[in-house]
Amino acid sequence: MPAESTVDSIQVHARAGPTRRAVLAAGAAGLALAALPLPRARGDDRRRLLRLAHLTDLHIQPERHAAEGVARCLAHVAEHARPDLILTGGDLVMDAFDEDEARTRTQWDLLTKAFHDGASAPVLHTLGNHDIWGWNKGKSRTRGTERLWGKAWALEALGLERAFNASTHAGWKIIRLDSVVPDPADPDGYIARIADEQWAWLESELKDTPEGTHVLICSHVPLHTATALFGKVEPDGKRRVSGGLMHTDNRRLLDLFARHPAVKCCVSGHTHRVERLVFRGIEFLCNGAVSGNWWKGAYHEAFEGYALLDLFDDGTVESRYTGFDWKA
Ligand SMILES: [Zn+2]
Repeated sequence: MPAESTVDSIQVHARAGPTRRAVLAAGAAGLALAALPLPRARGDDRRRLLRLAHLTDLHIQPERHAAEGVARCLAHVAEHARPDLILTGGDLVMDAFDEDEARTRTQWDLLTKAFHDGASAPVLHTLGNHDIWGWNKGKSRTRGTERLWGKAWALEALGLERAFNASTHAGWKIIRLDSVVPDPADPDGYIARIADEQWAWLESELKDTPEGTHVLICSHVPLHTATALFGKVEPDGKRRVSGGLMHTDNRRLLDLFARHPAVKCCVSGHTHRVERLVFRGIEFLCNGAVSGNWWKGAYHEAFEGYALLDLFDDGTVESRYTGFDWKA
């Protein structure tokens, strides 16, 4: 069966209601694809320029058959999605932040092997907080002087020169941000923010985007999300959003994007939630987690899955979150 009709069948089923496969993929939560954000009904005058498979929060580890799960996901992408590009959203390994050198090496070896063996399209990687080695020096038993400490290990494993990058494909510029900086209030922690050097780069990338090129921004931590308000309300009636849950510089970023209408869509992971939020004309998509509930089943509505993103010539994006037939 040609790729086009295979993928469209996912979309058709998503519109019409859950398939048996989707329900199975939803696992114990029993959540159907029908409950997830669906593509808008539109005319057929658009031309699709690019198809991405957005795989985020893979959290590969030796336990819970996680490597097998990532391989299954990549095989599903190859068979059903057939994207032009695979875009990863960070938290590729279960955790390097708190872990020692041996455990970190094991996880990166699993991750690089999985993509070497299973990637069916060029891969654009994004870093997440769990991909940073040893920022918690106490737990990781690191000194901070090791050659691969911090983001260096992830960059070397993924063949990247730096943690923020941009590339243009078929009329769409894909900007991958580095969301994570050290928490000024906690030497072992992090918060989500764009550091100064990256700000200057991001501003020039947006300024230099040619007329007619659309922009999709990928960050690990959501730039803007309503899922941050899903937590408990404090006894004083207030809600507190952790500086690590959503970008603390979201307002500055959104004001920057308002000056650059080429920015159409921002995709993220980190929350392991599935959400489509439209604000100021920009779509903000939280695209679940390949690992679901860290390989223990579904996390709320987010069963183990990935998003298929179709990018069109008029700047619109359609996203479908799909499972890959995984049973925890
Ligand atoms: Zn994360």
